[in-house]
Amino acid sequence: MSFFSVFSADLAIDLGTANTLIYMRGKGIVLNEPSIVAFDRNTKKIVAIGNEAREMLGRTHRDIRTIRPMKDGVIADFEIAEGMLREFIRKIHANWSPSRRIVICVPSGVTEVEKRAVRDSAEHAGAKEVHLIAEPMAAAVGIGLDVDAPVGNMVVDIGGGTTEIAVIALSGIVNEESIRIAGDEMNSAIIQFFKKNHNILIGERTAEAIKCEVGSVMPLKEEVTIQVKGRDLVNGIPKTTEASSVEIRDSLNEPVQSIIDAVKLTLERTPPELSSDILDRGIMLSGGGALLKGLDERLRLETNLPVHVAEDPLTAVVRGTGKVLENLNQFTKVLIKSRRY
Ligand code: ADP
Ligand code: MG
Repeated sequence: MSFFSVFSADLAIDLGTANTLIYMRGKGIVLNEPSIVAFDRNTKKIVAIGNEAREMLGRTHRDIRTIRPMKDGVIADFEIAEGMLREFIRKIHANWSPSRRIVICVPSGVTEVEKRAVRDSAEHAGAKEVHLIAEPMAAAVGIGLDVDAPVGNMVVDIGGGTTEIAVIALSGIVNEESIRIAGDEMNSAIIQFFKKNHNILIGERTAEAIKCEVGSVMPLKEEVTIQVKGRDLVNGIPKTTEASSVEIRDSLNEPVQSIIDAVKLTLERTPPELSSDILDRGIMLSGGGALLKGLDERLRLETNLPVHVAEDPLTAVVRGTGKVLENLNQFTKVLIKSRRY
């Protein structure tokens, strides 16, 4: 028996559209990498995953393709998604004992077919017992909300491909909305802005860096000017241009407004008793999009409700999934009831 086999290797997995995080029972978060796969077009063999595949994004030659199999919150390519999950698990634990348990979180809007695919993937990766949990429920547990209580809580998780809005009470999701507008759409909006206003084509990673560093939705204390590198759309030559944080903010307005409108719509559809709970307790934000500067303030202004950003919003979902894994008996009610095939 190896030293590690004294630990249980049960896993909790947040298979996100942008990032995959794995929590190991008794150990905490053991993996946090982008949900990206690079594979050979001809053989479909995976050549890299996670950080390594991310480095290749936009820089591959014609035989290698990089994809994000979970893009848009649905599984774009089942085979590749399964391969990615298997490789991630292999990475954290070369001799992962196959008789183990996995709790895996899925976007709340997934179809039966997708649920089954996720379950199958986890089983093919070696799990004997697979439990599914909806992403906003996992976020709520990770934030530390008392999901069991007869009071309403609203969680808004803004990821890469989807924004999940849910009202939770008595261990169930009372009301939910999932839209395919989140971090990726913000990146696209920045790319479009530079195309239209600066005649320059910038890459996806550059757009994301701009969003994270100077992106905002409310006026900043000090507005800044940044230098941006890309390809001139007219003559095709690499060039540098200048843009202000004010312009970047304008470019982000459309996707941000769509998210806010979806939150308002969900509030309108919430039963009044739960609305009054939300009025007292406020809205909780999680997911990487919650880090966008001023988003909480803007949402507060538009809804007149208290808005809180989860502590370390990028890990809230996996921490919640991990908590469920560690206390499975206490949390059976929050798991997705799905048929076994
Ligand atoms: P998912 O659950 O879909 O994998 P995550 O919760 O991991 O998504 O969040 C990833 C998204 O958060 C990406 O679109 C990323 O650009 C965005 N993000 C990360 N940090 C920031 C930041 N500081 N400001 C704005 N967006 C951010
Ligand atoms: Mg997520």
